[in-house]
Amino acid sequence: MTSTDHVIELRKVRKAFGDFVAVEAADFTIREGEFFAMLGPSGCGKTTTLKMIAGFEQPTAGQVILNGEDVSRVPPYKRNVNTVFQQYALFPHMTVADNVRFGPRSKKRSKADYEASVAEMLDIVRLGDFASRKPSQLSGGQQQRVALARALVNYPSALLLDEPLAALDLKLREAMQFELKRIQRDVGITFVFVTHDQGEALTMSDRIAVMSEGRVEQIGTPEEIYNSPATLFVAGFIGSANLLPGEVRGFDGDDVVVELTSGATVRARASHEHHIGAQVSLMLRPERLRASIEPHANGRSIVGTVTDLVFQGATARLVLRLADDSEVIATVATGSDLPFLLPGAPVHVEWDPGAAYVLAGWPLRPGLTANDIDTLEAHAS
Ligand code: ATP
Repeated sequence: MTSTDHVIELRKVRKAFGDFVAVEAADFTIREGEFFAMLGPSGCGKTTTLKMIAGFEQPTAGQVILNGEDVSRVPPYKRNVNTVFQQYALFPHMTVADNVRFGPRSKKRSKADYEASVAEMLDIVRLGDFASRKPSQLSGGQQQRVALARALVNYPSALLLDEPLAALDLKLREAMQFELKRIQRDVGITFVFVTHDQGEALTMSDRIAVMSEGRVEQIGTPEEIYNSPATLFVAGFIGSANLLPGEVRGFDGDDVVVELTSGATVRARASHEHHIGAQVSLMLRPERLRASIEPHANGRSIVGTVTDLVFQGATARLVLRLADDSEVIATVATGSDLPFLLPGAPVHVEWDPGAAYVLAGWPLRPGLTANDIDTLEAHAS
């Protein structure tokens, strides 16, 4: 990558508050025109990282580079970035248009020039017809869009967003995710977005940095992070994952052969090297499993006993208990599959080539992690 490809670069950035290290060794770049999310549970350091890009915090060590220039010691108002916070802080006595006009008007741009930008931004956020309303006459989503137009009207190099949808109710939040993505595409400006909501990050981002305890665990596209997580933490934090402990017994082409502690020997893909005898976890996404009466011939199934089956409409949630007492959850299609899934019955779950994935280390608790990890849930609520 050349220096012109990216807008923001963090070089070995560290931030300590006294003895406490909030961000450690943040070292990555954010590309021109990219929708980039920083995702992680509460306290992982994502807001602190964003504040260092904005200039509201200074790194203890390392550098923040903006458009090729070291801005580590440059105050926020001299950086060509703009921040949208959870609270939009619109001026209540001003109209929508005046709120958007406020920045460029005080920046000595010619009236004709900034009026054209104000009209363009109101158009992009689809509030042209609301220009003369006051913020109190708008819905939460519309207020959010005014805040966006106000932040974008000076065409910053990057727009920094700190949980900007958190104040909206669930339905509106979902609608705004698509709207934000569209706005970002229309203006072509780099968006850096902080969230603890993995669904939000997956829906909107070109790339995601998953953070845990001050460190970036993985940076990748939503598909890469979902299908090939770098660590057990990422596998558990993004989506739901059954994580089953086992040991590497050998290799078969690109596949790793793993003997699970529950007994089965399976084949699975891996993006890292694992040596024979290494303790690993097999990741199985619930939606990629199918129930079957017979085992799969090619090491692509495991067997368990049905403990629960909950009808959920198009799919059912099947719970199997394995020989080592761990549970596996499968999201199976409803219909003809279901009659043989009786409590106590032995059932195999199988998967397509590439669906099972091997990760280094053993999970703290075998079986389905992700959504039921208490610490993650505690943050989401
Ligand atoms: P959240 O989603 O809860 O905002 P976060 O990932 O954005 O979490 P940060 O706000 O970056 O987390 O905080 C990271 C850690 O640094 C937290 O443990 C927090 O308590 C600590 N921290 C942040 N700001 C300060 C400060 N000014 N002084 C001391 N500690 C701080």
